[in-house]
Order: sequence, then structure tokens, then C-alpha cells
Amino acid sequence: MGEEEKSLNFIEHIIEDDLRAEYVKDQLRFRFPPEPNGYLHIGHASSICLNFGLGIKYNAPVNLRFDDTNPAKEEKEYVDAIKKDIKWLGFDWDTECYASDYFQQLYDWAVVLIQEGKAYVDSQTSEEIADQKGTPTEPGRESPYRNRSIEENLSLFEGMKNGDFKEGDHVLRAKIDMASSNMLMRDPVMYRVLHKAHHRTNTDWCIYPMYDWTHGESDYIEQVSHSLCTLEFLPHRELYNWFLDQLVSENRLRPKQREFARRNLSHTVVSKRKLLQLVENNIVSGWDDPRMPTISGLRRRGYTPESIRNFADTIGIAKRDNVVDVSLLEFHVREHLNKIAPRVMAVLNPLKVIITNYEEGKEEWLDAENNPEDEKSGTRKVPFSRELYIEQEDFREQANRKFFRLKLGGEVRLKNGYIIKAESCTKDEDGNVVEVQCTYDPKSKSGSGTEESLRKVKGTLHWVSSSHAIAAEVRLYDRLFTDATPDGHKDKEFMDFVNPNSLQKITGHMEPSLKDAKPGDRFQFQRLGYFNVDLDSTPEHLVFNRTVTLRDTWAKIEQKT
Ligand code: ATP
Ligand code: MG
Repeated sequence: MGEEEKSLNFIEHIIEDDLRAEYVKDQLRFRFPPEPNGYLHIGHASSICLNFGLGIKYNAPVNLRFDDTNPAKEEKEYVDAIKKDIKWLGFDWDTECYASDYFQQLYDWAVVLIQEGKAYVDSQTSEEIADQKGTPTEPGRESPYRNRSIEENLSLFEGMKNGDFKEGDHVLRAKIDMASSNMLMRDPVMYRVLHKAHHRTNTDWCIYPMYDWTHGESDYIEQVSHSLCTLEFLPHRELYNWFLDQLVSENRLRPKQREFARRNLSHTVVSKRKLLQLVENNIVSGWDDPRMPTISGLRRRGYTPESIRNFADTIGIAKRDNVVDVSLLEFHVREHLNKIAPRVMAVLNPLKVIITNYEEGKEEWLDAENNPEDEKSGTRKVPFSRELYIEQEDFREQANRKFFRLKLGGEVRLKNGYIIKAESCTKDEDGNVVEVQCTYDPKSKSGSGTEESLRKVKGTLHWVSSSHAIAAEVRLYDRLFTDATPDGHKDKEFMDFVNPNSLQKITGHMEPSLKDAKPGDRFQFQRLGYFNVDLDSTPEHLVFNRTVTLRDTWAKIEQKT
């Protein structure tokens, strides 16, 4: 086995085997087939990266196919959002397709099946049909309508199409085998009557094809060579093949369904249906709430397309369903933002510092490096003055030798600035420190080249000049769920695990260079984490989202509890 072949995933092995056996490279074609009943989530990103990644690897077209056969749940808004998200992730489809474009063809083929005695109209209620399904160990029973004449079936099916019947009066079923060990082969429903307008075909149709009767046939129409879906469709493969057996003509390529494992992410749910519940119950502000595991939520939160693609590539594809820890996703966004995000200083929990030996009214504009990871990023100026803010957590009256931040009698360097020493502090009635009086060493300015500027002190703190600082809203996010697998409990609903403290809004104090920050701009707030400007932000009222902290604190918290 060559080096390259060793690193292939199992789907790529299947394709390589097929290329050796039956297909030529030009016949390869893939598709990504979302149902437009919600926004794409991080699980979909795995499928997108897989299918579009194969397209790039084999230089093969990838269709975007909307699986829009259920007018009750589908909307144009979702179609548009799905297209936007795929493009944002960095992929391009060959053809934009809709299962609804094939309604006429599917209907015509269904008529052929009826004519060949392979499909029939069943006039029982859905309860009766379910009742006859049998169990995995017991065969099902045949419907009393199973042996209707072809003429009667044709005329009833036409009546269904023409709107002569109410919902539930009749369904069309494939005539396969009520004793099959695969329950899906026990005369599956192909069509049901639905008097609902469709977002594309409007009221042209009042019968709609079921998933199994639509998916493989759409693959066949589009000549998709490998139809990759998640594992829950494994038992459907037999039916997928049965339908194709009835239709495939010799000179046309026969699609293959192959399955891979669904990707789940810890501390969240990846199911459009469940995410919709969060939206509808106002647990979140919408599909793009920065706490949502949707692509649009991650985008708004400050994630980059690269970080999501790298995450998907790292976890790869698997043959068994599993839960990937969200900290891995966070690792990837941290890694990318470390390279690209400009560094700035912001204080979120301010404590006033007075530099008593610094002249009142004086200000200095100090040079600050924008990004040490990126030489081309240059420098900016930050103002220094007699009154500053530091973080409350960065000061203690007394602390042991391991506390490298500011304590009475101790020294720290202010990032890009001077070395200061804490001399005294003032407290309020409750004993909380409200101000620290410090002195500074005027010769210690960073980058000034003096002996004092090179003097090493253990701690470096971020800070802002209080009179120059701009106030901004900062949104701090925590996990949306308190449990690692909120939908993995038999006795509880996933909604029972919603974290009531997943959003905290505070006011932060920013260095003035941030005044022109625009929605989407990403920064590292030094020593605090990565933040981006939220869509709600305006020049008068800046709003920042915390994308991710600098270090993973969650794993530690979990170990303790
Ligand atoms: P949901 O339950 O969220 O609606 P779905 O599978 O019904 O998911 P579709 O819109 O039908 O959603 O999915 C489009 C494609 O994305 C399918 O091929 C599906 O298998 C794949 N997909 C969906 N969720 C995941 C996931 N968690 N991991 C990997 N692939 C997924
Ligand atoms: Mg679905």
C-alpha cells in the first residue's frame, strides 16, 4: 500500500475500488442534499466537507440538492440560508437542484410501477397500515387493497394527483414483500396526499413523494455516482436499490448509496428539529444566535470558515456514531485566530489605578505591536495617562509568591508601557478595593532600549487609559447546555439541560483604536480571549462577542465537579 493510499478514508477507498472496477473518473459525481427545514449546523459541515472535499480531490462536480418533498416544514428562507452558509464555508456547487423539479418524472415512473403491478393504492388509514407492519421478528400482513386491478390503481392514483381526495384517504405503496426481514421493504409508502402549498411548486401538486422514493431517483436523474448519507440510512439501502432496479436503463450510471457516521458535538444538539425548538421557545435569539451550533451562529460568534473546515478534517469520517468534544472545535478556532487576529487591550472588570508620580493631564501614545504572529501586521498607538484601568482579578493586597500579578509592594509591567509598583489601595465600606495607587519607573518604557526597559519583572498586565477608553457591550457566552449529551438521556428531555447562564452581558472598556471596529471584525483581547464585533453593533454602541477564551477552562471545571 502506497503512502498516499494509507491515509485515505474508507469512503475514498470505496471510490478507488470503484475506479479500478467499474467507473471511469469522469463519471464521479457527488451531491450534498439538505432538506430546507432549518439552518445548517456543525454536523452538516462534516457532510459538506466530505462531499465537496471529494469533488475537489477527484475534480468531480458536486450538486447542491434541496430535498424539498415536505411542504409542511420547508421554506425559502432556509434555502437561502443554506446557500449562504455553504459559500461562506468556501465551497461551490456545480448545479443547484431541487427534488421538486423531479415531481413530474417521479410521478411518471410511479405510473410505470403501477402498470407493471409493482405499486398499488392503499385506502386504509395510517393506523391500519402501521398495525399490519409486523415486527422485526414477525412478518407483516398484506393490505386488503394489495391486489387491486392495475386499472383501478391507475385511476385512483390519478384522482389523488388531481385533488379528488382528502389527506389520508389513500396512499400509494410499492408492492414488495410484507414478510421481508427488513421492515422498510414491507410495501413502503411512496406517495401521500398533502393539500399544502410548496415553496416552489406552489399548488401544482397535492401528492408528495416520500424520501425513499425520491432520493435514489434524484441521484439517478442527476447521475450521482456516490450518494453518501449518514448511518441511519443503512437499512434504507435495500429499498434504495430496489427502486433503482425498477428503473435503471443499461446505458445510464447506477448511483450507489454508502453510509458514514453522524457527527455529534458535546454540550449541544445537532438536529434541525431540536434547534428549531430552541428558536421557537426563545431560548436563543434566532438560528444565528452565537450560542447555536449552526454555521450561521458560529459565524456570528466569530468562527472562521478555516477553523470549521480544519475541525471537520481533523475528526474525519467514521463508521460509528460518536460525540466529538466541543473543546476540539474551540481548539481549531483559537489556532486560526491566533494567526490572524490583531491584539488589542480591553478591560472587562475594571479596577482604577492611579500613577501618583505621573503628571496630571499628561498623555503619551505608546507603540503597540498588532500581532506578534504576523510580521506584516505592524503597530498602533495606545494612550497612556495617570489614570488607568486594570482587571480586578489582577490585583491583590497580599498574595503568595506564585501570584505574578499586582500586589502591594510588588511590581508588574504594563503591556507596551511601563513597570509600575503598587504602593497603597483604597477600599469601599464593604472592604472591596476600589483604587490602587502606584508609582511608575519613567525609564522602563517598553521598547525604549534603556537598561530599565529590559528589566524583567514576572507579570505583564493589560490595561487601558480610563479617560481614553471607550465603553462597549461585551457578550460572554457559556455552553448552551449543562450536560455533555443533552439528548442522550432516556428519562429527560434535552430542554431540561438548557444552561440558564449561557449569556452574560457586561460593559467593557476598550482601547480607543477599537472605535471604528465593524461587525465581523475579529480581535484578541490580550490575556482574555478572542472576540468579534456582533451584528448588533453600531458606531454609537459597540457590541462584542467572546468567541472563545484563550485557554480551555471547561475541561478543568468538569474534572472538579
Ligand atoms: P437534521 O436531523 O438536523 O434535520 P438531517 O440528516 O435530517 O439532519 P438533512 O438536511 O437531511 O438533515 O442533511 C443533509 C445531509 O447532511 C445528509 O446527507 C445528512 O446525512 C448529513 N448530515 C446531517 N446531520 C449530520 C451530522 N450530524 N453529521 C454528519 N452528517 C450529517
Ligand atoms: Mg431530515
